[in-house]
Amino acid sequence: MSHSEAKELKLSEGGGEQLEKRILDIVAASGDAGVLQRDIWHLLNVDSRRGSKIIKRLEKIGLLSRESIVYKGRKVYLLKPTPKLRQIPKLPPSLDTIPCFYCPFLVICGEISRILSCDKMNKWLLDSALAPT
Ligand code: SF4
Repeated sequence: MSHSEAKELKLSEGGGEQLEKRILDIVAASGDAGVLQRDIWHLLNVDSRRGSKIIKRLEKIGLLSRESIVYKGRKVYLLKPTPKLRQIPKLPPSLDTIPCFYCPFLVICGEISRILSCDKMNKWLLDSALAPT
């Protein structure tokens, strides 16, 4: 993956990243049937205004499709995984919290010595050290 591709795939930083991942997990699991956008708000207890921004961003980077449909007489959005999202391998839970696996800079991280100043990695290391064994 080139640096420009890494930029293209970039998800948001900070607290939104986990939410994006959870949304993508639900959409990926919905398969061909898809999932109603409003059901995601209920499942994740997300404000629809904030959630809509995230969905639009994920649609823009090509990880999900959003289709307007009429369901029970109301206009709603149906979300489906794109081939790009289906290609992303699912990690086992033991590895799922390691930030590098979802980082757009993974391929170039060593080249730019980013690990020395990576907030996400430092936070993960601290959380891991403080976690009960
Ligand atoms: S150390 Fe930080 S910048 Fe490097 S791949 Fe991991 S999360 Fe990304």
